[in-house]
Amino acid sequence: MNQKIPRIEIISDQCKGCELCIPACKPKVIAIGDKFNKIGYQYATIVNGDACTGCDACYYACPEPGTIFVYKKKRKVKDSV
Ligand code: SF4
Ligand code: SF4
Repeated sequence: MNQKIPRIEIISDQCKGCELCIPACKPKVIAIGDKFNKIGYQYATIVNGDACTGCDACYYACPEPGTIFVYKKKRKVKDSV
């Protein structure tokens, strides 16, 4: 699958709906949805994924480890020889 880079992924069942990621994201990529996850929280969802700049602000704002992943272009690594 050819997905846009940079982009984020939110593991909805890890999210506790604290909303800290929402103001952290200046391009307004994230919002709280109206569905509940399996641990009973209304979880964060991606509403404007094309605007993601890969800035990592949501990742650092989120207090729940393993909830937000930021995907960016792989760096080219030069051969050392
Ligand atoms: S990486 Fe930056 S631009 Fe992308 S969703 Fe997170 S805060 Fe928003
Ligand atoms: S900061 Fe993390 S736990 Fe809080 S709403 Fe966003 S994704 Fe969910």
